[in-house]
Amino acid sequence: MKIWVGMDDTDSKDGMCTTYLAVLAIDQLKRQGISVEGFPRLVRLNPTIPFKTRGNGALSFLVDGNIDEVMEVVSGTIEKYAMLDDEKTNPGAVFVNSENDRVMDVLSAFALKAVRGVVSIDEAFFIIGKYMIPHLRFKAGRGLIGALAAVGLDFYDYTIEVLAYRKPERFGTPREYDRNSFFEADRKTYPLTWDTVDWYNRVVVAVPSSPDPVLFGIRGDDIHAVREAFETVKTEDIDRHMTFVTNQGTDMHIIHESEVSELENYHSYRIRGSVVEEPFIIEGGHVFFMIKTRFGDVKCAAFEPTKQFRDVIRQLRQGDLVEVYGSMKKDTVNLEKINIIDLANYVEVNPSCPLCGKRMESAGKNKGFRCRKCKTTATERVKVKVKREIEKGFYEVPPCARRHLSKPLVRMNVPHKHVFR
Ligand SMILES: [Zn+2]
Repeated sequence: MKIWVGMDDTDSKDGMCTTYLAVLAIDQLKRQGISVEGFPRLVRLNPTIPFKTRGNGALSFLVDGNIDEVMEVVSGTIEKYAMLDDEKTNPGAVFVNSENDRVMDVLSAFALKAVRGVVSIDEAFFIIGKYMIPHLRFKAGRGLIGALAAVGLDFYDYTIEVLAYRKPERFGTPREYDRNSFFEADRKTYPLTWDTVDWYNRVVVAVPSSPDPVLFGIRGDDIHAVREAFETVKTEDIDRHMTFVTNQGTDMHIIHESEVSELENYHSYRIRGSVVEEPFIIEGGHVFFMIKTRFGDVKCAAFEPTKQFRDVIRQLRQGDLVEVYGSMKKDTVNLEKINIIDLANYVEVNPSCPLCGKRMESAGKNKGFRCRKCKTTATERVKVKVKREIEKGFYEVPPCARRHLSKPLVRMNVPHKHVFR
């Protein structure tokens, strides 16, 4: 029987990684003569929910074998390697007959909701109960949500990531790698691979800093280019590696504004609006501005980690027409990308004094303007042409600030792309 195995929530902030557990389970299954078909799938879920796992990635893979034997291997792997002592680690695994179209349809809808919205553990239990899906639950079993979603998600778009894992004895120690070799790998294979490095910020993005078994990951659209990059980089000894198909870099989390009647926190959107309040910077280097949308005024933010992207945002002016992409948190859209559709070439300013030439000040609400020194007055603001420092088109955060799910501009078929590489 062909079975989709889904698993999630085996790691913690202190270590481990669900992709690694899946690789260990797959190796054991193969050793026992059970065939694993195609590449495992790495599914990133809604990045904004507060109780997410680190990286919020769930795993699935297709096997052909006896379900009891498969369950025993997966169960043994989780018991041995998952961070079960951490109270926030609540693993779950599911085993779904791949030929049961009715269940696969239900899981497909469930999965999209887990990527774009908020699902409860009760919804997962309901589906498992209703369709009698064989499963493994450890502790609270929150991982069952991701396990079901990883099995069900329809990859209407997907990318590839090859992950290299460290020798177990090196887990938790600093990673040893030749920085230049990652830049070289990018030079050779970009744009078929992306986010290996961040040239401007001089960061090797492919190498994580978390204490998990991952040594590095190469992302891209072309499996040959990904392999070439993989073979170009120089690092400490690799224990094992695996190629995953994934929804990373697809914008699958983004909901178009036409699909909703109101904006909610913990969801990610693409919203059009005109700039009503010019950007302002707060301590820490975070940049905020307001846009007027069909939902009312919406606050947008480019936080400090988005680096040079903030320089673009700071150049926005009242009247600019934009489309923002990002996640809503604390009633603020955290920008991942922006499309500047139209730039206002005129701004309204207080009139100049005809005698001394200085800008007049407001004489009070609805009382016009005045020059205190020359005693001149005027009634209305005037429009002046402004020189703009930015162009229309798409801008995105640099690779070092990119979210797993965000689609890099290099993958987007749109005109006027401004790519920070
Ligand atoms: Zn004056």
